Amino acid sequence: MSVPSSQLPPTAEVAQQTYPFALADLPYAYDALEPHIDQKTLQIHHRGHHATYVKKLNEALAKAPQMQGFTLAQLLTRLDEVPAEIRTAVKNNGGGHLNHDFFWNCLAPPTNQSPGEELAQAINAQFGSFDGFRKQFSAVAEQHFASGWVALACERGSRKLEIVDLKDHEVLDENSRAGLLIIDIWEHAYYVKYQNRRPEFIQAFWNIVDWEHASEIFSQAANR
Ligand code: MN
Repeated sequence: MSVPSSQLPPTAEVAQQTYPFALADLPYAYDALEPHIDQKTLQIHHRGHHATYVKKLNEALAKAPQMQGFTLAQLLTRLDEVPAEIRTAVKNNGGGHLNHDFFWNCLAPPTNQSPGEELAQAINAQFGSFDGFRKQFSAVAEQHFASGWVALACERGSRKLEIVDLKDHEVLDENSRAGLLIIDIWEHAYYVKYQNRRPEFIQAFWNIVDWEHASEIFSQAANR
């Protein structure tokens, strides 16, 4: 079943972008996630780090006009077709662009949200309880060595939930899985406020997860 792009979640929209790639505004103000993610960190993270990934991705693609019609999702899933001299740049900066867009869109100002009924039931079935899920996810994020991401995803169709540990800027294979939420555990995501205390940043993350968004993606993932 094909869905008009306007109905796809924002992550899917960025995946459909082609060269030249652009940095979207955040879906909230820079101070909207305070105190859990502070304004300064969010500004540097979005206008500094994320913007640089987009710029470097465009610089790489500028050298390979034959790749400029590929969507971001196609570039990342068909890396073997990308010329060897820009492959690493496309993997790292393209993955960085996609994952950051996913991250911004899975966060929301603190509102005491919780998963919708269907997703809540699936979390309980898979992880025992909502707390059990958060503990497992947090432990994977705390124990991840060096830079990377941790995502909650579900298999398309069966909707089996899975905690996925991603190195550097590795991305989820969205053909087989739908990403529900993701946390950035690169030091640049938390160092200004939390310094070396990654576990505190992970605990703070739970206050700003957009569970409504995650529940909507979970619901759509039943279709394919
Ligand atoms: Mn980041």
